[in-house]
Amino acid sequence: MRLSRYFLPVLKETPSEAQIVSHRLMLRAGMIKQASAGIYSWLPLGYKILRKIEAIVHEEQGRAGHIPMLMPTLQSADLWRESGRYDAYGPEMLRIRDRHERDMLFGPTNEEMITDIFRCHVSSYRDLPMTLYHIQWKFRDERRPRFGVMRGREFLMKDGYNFDLTREDALHAYNRHLVSYLRTYERMGLQAIPMRADSGPIGGDDTHEFLVLAETGESEVFYDSEITDLKFGDRKIDYDSHDECRAVLEEFTSRYARTDETHDPELFAKVPEDRQRQARGIEVGQIFYFGTKYSEAMGANVVDPDGNRVPVHMGSHGIGVSRLVGAIIEASHDDKGIIWPEGVTPFHAGIVNLKQGDEEADAACQALYDSLVTMGLEPLYDDRDERAGAKFATMDLIGLPWRITVGPRGLKNGVVELTCRRTGESEEMPPEQAVTRIG
Ligand code: ATP
Ligand code: MG
Ligand code: MG
Ligand code: MG
Repeated sequence: MRLSRYFLPVLKETPSEAQIVSHRLMLRAGMIKQASAGIYSWLPLGYKILRKIEAIVHEEQGRAGHIPMLMPTLQSADLWRESGRYDAYGPEMLRIRDRHERDMLFGPTNEEMITDIFRCHVSSYRDLPMTLYHIQWKFRDERRPRFGVMRGREFLMKDGYNFDLTREDALHAYNRHLVSYLRTYERMGLQAIPMRADSGPIGGDDTHEFLVLAETGESEVFYDSEITDLKFGDRKIDYDSHDECRAVLEEFTSRYARTDETHDPELFAKVPEDRQRQARGIEVGQIFYFGTKYSEAMGANVVDPDGNRVPVHMGSHGIGVSRLVGAIIEASHDDKGIIWPEGVTPFHAGIVNLKQGDEEADAACQALYDSLVTMGLEPLYDDRDERAGAKFATMDLIGLPWRITVGPRGLKNGVVELTCRRTGESEEMPPEQAVTRIG
């Protein structure tokens, strides 16, 4: 992409309405524009990152054997009356009436709708296990939408639902989700710690939240510092193996890690004092096992091997896709701007032409651009007629992992400058070498 042809409305001033760094940087980098309280347009740069995050979520869900689909944003109130949640959900639910006076709502989550789909089409244990998921916009009329996309009213969520014959199988689905979530967050450059949580309005008795530690997080968390040494890494896992998935769950949840909702000071006191940590965290996902709560209320039954009709065991599993954009920035930035982890960066490298219009510099930039594209990478070429300082500031702000600076002086010696955004280190080298380093 050439910057002169892109739409990147960066702001010079720091917007006063933004209280936390990720919100400020997203506005300044031209990623989002507020449409109304808690509702945002995703401008091209923000949209690109959102799509990258979605792609990682899809890939990891696919690896775990979960099936993608898409349900609508608008739902009929009748389904929610069946589960009893239409009245229970409260003012966070946006209720709508259509022209025929039918009660509708903008979905805050999809347990009812997926259970309805399941009961209409599945009637035998032979079709289980099954996990369906989608990535769809949700609406929750939050009392205090704030911090930009972190607590929006309209937000993008991946929500998945498992259907299993037995409690044991459903707990395997729970463990499988935990493993796939660990992989998902790590690919985004994040450490998200599973913490025992409270089940809230979904109900159920087994649930973990995934929290990214950050001062600006809205949750208070208590944990054993040993937990931050754990990494899933690139180990292989057989998602069908109950034992393997359970072992990962045990490894990642055996140490004390809880949010304030479930915090138990007596238990916490048993953690060696030098390892006790109290901090703040951003909830980027949650997994639930809730058994037959919805299947019983809504009649989602299957025939088991003995010919009995039994309610299926279910769980639901969410990832805050749009919130993750903010969480990644909270975890990875400096005073100049964002520092995108390689896994989600909107472009792989920026090319800065110090002397636009200079025949040699223009040609060298174009050649670099073409080589990067040939390698399957996506460069952003700042080909505007701007001062070097302004170009550098924009690149630092939008946070691409690499910057290649091209100017007539270096070219005379056959070199360009390669700068790493994270370390700030620069090195001169021939253009081909810069391309190899980035790839
Ligand atoms: P919170 O405690 O932050 O209100 P939640 O527990 O109500 O979140 P869940 O029902 O668990 O949310 O939804 C799954 C995920 O969706 C959350 O872990 C979070 O990452 C994301 N999410 C929830 N509410 C919002 C919101 N208002 N804006 C952006 N993302 C959200
Ligand atoms: Mg909430
Ligand atoms: Mg929560
Ligand atoms: Mg939650």
